[in-house]
Amino acid sequence: MTADADKPPFLPFALPEIGDEEIAEVVDTLKSGWVTTGPKTARFEREFSAFLGDEALHSIAVNSATAGLHLALEALGIGPGDEVITTTHTFTATAEVVRYLGADVVLVDCDPVTLNIDPRAVEAAITPRTKAVMPVHFGGLAADMPAILDIARRHGLKVVEDAAHALPTTVGGQLVGTLGSDATVFSFYANKTMTTGEGGMLVTRDAALAKRAKVMRLHGMSRDAFDRFTATVPSWYYEIVAPGFKYNLTDIAASLGLHQLRKAQGFQQRRAQIAAQYHAGLAGLPLVLPADAPAGELHAWHLYTVRLADGAPVDRDAAVQALFDAGIGCSVHYIPLHQQPYWRERYGLQPAQFPNSQRAYERLFSLPIYTRMTDADVQRVVAVLRGALR
Ligand SMILES: *Cc1c(COP(=O)(O)O)cnc(C)c1O
Repeated sequence: MTADADKPPFLPFALPEIGDEEIAEVVDTLKSGWVTTGPKTARFEREFSAFLGDEALHSIAVNSATAGLHLALEALGIGPGDEVITTTHTFTATAEVVRYLGADVVLVDCDPVTLNIDPRAVEAAITPRTKAVMPVHFGGLAADMPAILDIARRHGLKVVEDAAHALPTTVGGQLVGTLGSDATVFSFYANKTMTTGEGGMLVTRDAALAKRAKVMRLHGMSRDAFDRFTATVPSWYYEIVAPGFKYNLTDIAASLGLHQLRKAQGFQQRRAQIAAQYHAGLAGLPLVLPADAPAGELHAWHLYTVRLADGAPVDRDAAVQALFDAGIGCSVHYIPLHQQPYWRERYGLQPAQFPNSQRAYERLFSLPIYTRMTDADVQRVVAVLRGALR
């Protein structure tokens, strides 16, 4: 045997768990002849509202979370001259949608422990132009929503939650999506806690917002394809009321979503188990481990992000390299937006404005956490990291 053959297989940073149920549902959809937005997307939307336990909620399926965030802000009337506050410690999708609408992004720092948006920084950044705030539930741990909703109420701001990491996550026993913000958007991208390949869901209790988002999801048409082609009365008539977008989810993708959603609680339990195994295995190392949810609350555990503590024998890049050399994928969440050329240059940003995010960024990396990992995979990651930090 060669040395290479002895090497364990590469452990990717993320992998989806797609079962026979998803595959059979996709095949059924393909055979049905209805492959774009149709009955399965409608069912996925109904079941999503039911999953959140709030049948009054409007769930609007879209082809990405980015699309959903864009639709939510558009429906809220965000436009040129407006400011939207969000965290620097996120993926660019959270902020880019504000620029699609010609409004400006005001980035603020995160909490040094949770890496979630700091409510005090939000309040300090409010100006007469501020229209909305977009919290992100970093890694699947809820942002401080009671504080953010209170600030929004006092200042008359809209709240759009980027819940790309937060299915399922709770605050005060209530699932994210039902907390009373204006809109909440989930992602079903390949590496998220459930996936449709590409996809997302916009949820809102606001009927007018839901109506506008549904129209803008499909070209600004006043009726969607499902209504047009399946109504009992044949109807070819539609009206274009705005230059809308092409953001609809396909029934092929919804077929995956129907079964992923049924598994979402089980997926969360397995992710929480892996997080607990990491907590135990990595205890005592010069690492700051990710914060747990408060007792009784759900943490979606989309990410398991660790930070090197003071006195660690290696830096972040060396730790990531050691994992890679041992055949383990990891990632960095995030290169903060204030470090990205577009955001840095447009708003003249300096790292010193974001000390918590900057300090975290320099020391953090995310370990693999997904349901297809075995306990042995988790222990393999632990062993390599213990070796690197000895
Ligand atoms: C993945 C992600 C998005 C974008 O999701 P898509 O479905 O890929 O558009 C937005 N915000 C955050 C924080 C994400 O991690």
